[in-house]
Amino acid sequence: ASKRTPLMAGNWKMNLNHQEAIVLVQKLAVTLADKKHDYSRAEVVVVPPFTDLRSVQSLVDGDRLAVRYGAQDVSMHEAGAYTGEISAGMLAKLGCSYVVVGHSERREHHGEGDDVVNAKAHRALAAAMTPIVCVGEGLSVRQAGEHVAHTLGQLDGSLAGFSAEQVAGLVVAYEPVWAIGTGEVATPEDAQEVCAAIRGRVREVHGDVAADGVRILYGGSVKAANVAGIMAQGDVDGCLVGGASLQADEFGGICRYY
Ligand code: PEP
Repeated sequence: ASKRTPLMAGNWKMNLNHQEAIVLVQKLAVTLADKKHDYSRAEVVVVPPFTDLRSVQSLVDGDRLAVRYGAQDVSMHEAGAYTGEISAGMLAKLGCSYVVVGHSERREHHGEGDDVVNAKAHRALAAAMTPIVCVGEGLSVRQAGEHVAHTLGQLDGSLAGFSAEQVAGLVVAYEPVWAIGTGEVATPEDAQEVCAAIRGRVREVHGDVAADGVRILYGGSVKAANVAGIMAQGDVDGCLVGGASLQADEFGGICRYY
């Protein structure tokens, strides 16, 4: 992990209105500015709901906060008659640096397959934002011992059509579905097994530059109390955090990760 800048991304999911978003980002800024701890090692990203992005943009720009932000999803279409959707161009205009694509909750509740996830990732990159491409197995796949093959299958589909240079700049998040929001965190060894397999597949398909550049996150019940063991793994470059990112102190503890 040492060559790559660690990334800690907080996915707020469908929580916090735009006023509550301002309060949380302000608290997070205070936490990150606390000189008692070193928060400089990781890039810190918040991923609020769409309706909060404009407020977060004003706050981050106005106070020059060392926090970046992104969106939880993006349309696979460029523009036009897609009622209710939000385009990559709109998100880029709001200063988003990242877009999460293929989160398991999108895959599960909105039927998104790898082809849709792939199209969304291409849209994000074409608008100069970095996709955070989520992959990971459910409980039955894990119990059948097929978690690596399953996750690599999703990876292949989701990364189709990207050049080696593009892959080098992407973020992949390995999120075992059974560990998301359940309090059941994967062991550091479980996380490393699959993150290493993901990097191995990237090396095989796209070569060394892509494999050494791509950042691979672990996600699933990460907390300040369990982040150190996960971050000690060689192929884990950061975390995608759900529930724990809604509290500034807890997310701050994750961001310094020791
Ligand atoms: C997530 O939503 O990406 C996630 C990892 O959630 P949690 O941290 O709450 O398990």
